[in-house]
Amino acid sequence: MAKKDLSVIVVGGGFGGLASAIELTRHGFKAHVFEASPDLTRQGRSTSKGM
Ligand SMILES: Cc1cc2nc3c(=O)[nH]c(=O)nc-3n(C[C@H](O)[C@H](O)[C@H](O)COP(=O)(O)OP(=O)(O)OC[C@H]3O[C@@H](n4cnc5c(N)ncnc54)[C@H](O)[C@@H]3O)c2cc1C
Repeated sequence: MAKKDLSVIVVGGGFGGLASAIELTRHGFKAHVFEASPDLTRQGRSTSKGM
């Protein structure tokens, strides 16, 4: 069975889930992301300041 015939379910569309889905797709798998939240929201700033 070729990789492209394999589907992988990724539960959670956070950084971890989306990065996993991207890499799975890059390696020939079909990735399906299931996200519980109905909205796209940010959790914090995109950059952090050091001390
Ligand atoms: C208030 C706050 C501010 C932050 N600020 C920063 C920052 O400024 N810079 C930084 O680098 N990091 C920041 N972080 C940390 C960063 O958000 C996390 O490290 C990162 O989001 C972790 O990614 P993750 O994919 O593991 O989890 P998450 O981002 O939490 O993603 C998990 C996803 O899975 C979904 N999910 C959970 N259960 C289910 C289910 N049963 N079915 C379907 N979907 C499900 C959730 O809705 C969520 O979208 C912050 C975190 C918080 C809480």
